[in-house]
Amino acid sequence: MSLVENRSPRLRAVMGELMAHVGTARTVGVTGSPGVGKSTLVTAMVGAYRSTGARVGVLAVDPSSPFTGGAVLGDRVRMQEYATDAGVYIRSMASRGHLGGLSWATPQALRVLDAVGFEVVVIETVGVGQSEVEVAGLADTTVVALAPGMGDGIQAAKAGILEIGDVFVVNKADRDGAGTVVRDLTAMLRAAPSVPALESAGWTPPVLRTIAHRGSGVEGLVQALAEHADWLSSSGRLQARRRRQAREEIEALAQADFLDRARAGLGDATIDDLAARVAAGELDPYSAADQLLPSGERY
Ligand code: GDP
Repeated sequence: MSLVENRSPRLRAVMGELMAHVGTARTVGVTGSPGVGKSTLVTAMVGAYRSTGARVGVLAVDPSSPFTGGAVLGDRVRMQEYATDAGVYIRSMASRGHLGGLSWATPQALRVLDAVGFEVVVIETVGVGQSEVEVAGLADTTVVALAPGMGDGIQAAKAGILEIGDVFVVNKADRDGAGTVVRDLTAMLRAAPSVPALESAGWTPPVLRTIAHRGSGVEGLVQALAEHADWLSSSGRLQARRRRQAREEIEALAQADFLDRARAGLGDATIDDLAARVAAGELDPYSAADQLLPSGERY
């Protein structure tokens, strides 16, 4: 995992070795606005999985932050509960300013946890923004969490989150307004057009209620996730999703590699120098981009 975080050159060989040991972990993405209770929910899910004996990995990824460090993301606190449990692994990852940092690193982190035998890996998005949608695409099953009192129904429709959710959770079901969120969400899901080309076509996303800090409804969530996993396998959609994930990972790797080489090929100049000249109006962006390509090629 450290090699992944540090983008070590040794990863190439490690990933090659891991390939023979992967493919069995179920991956679950949990996304939603800050404050809806995602980390509380994920902690409760870890407990529910542990009670069935499954080993669980949690990757708390922050697509919006260039900073890394568990303390910032609060996983240290959570880890205490499972500090002595070898069946639980929790790690925070931030983009660290790498280009496509998380789309590059998260699949590799997943692969490590899969290869060492975690049956379930939960990817929890921390932070805000459209990139949550991107991170959700890294998992086989995506849980979208909402809560009453956050204007979430409208937010969900706006952020395209209705399309990415395989399972919807209305958390804080102990609060007023939970029933309204469930109703609004259910109505929106029914009204959404069924597009056969969508990855989720043929699956009706359930809308569940949870009270995460009491663990209420979490068994039902784990059950729904198992049903979705079964559906993915039996419908052939798992294979389709994994192919898409692989394609995105290849593209992210190739982009990162390309830029590394391009930066090296610039010699003493840097992309910042080119950017300064483009911003100053001295150079057009096409000519600047040409300087990143092997000589003779053009955008
Ligand atoms: P995140 O930002 O989405 O990860 O949200 P957190 O898990 O940090 O939770 C935000 C706050 O909501 C915390 O104070 C939690 O204790 C609280 N919380 C989480 N789940 C529930 C719930 O089901 N009901 C209520 N009333 N509070 C909750």
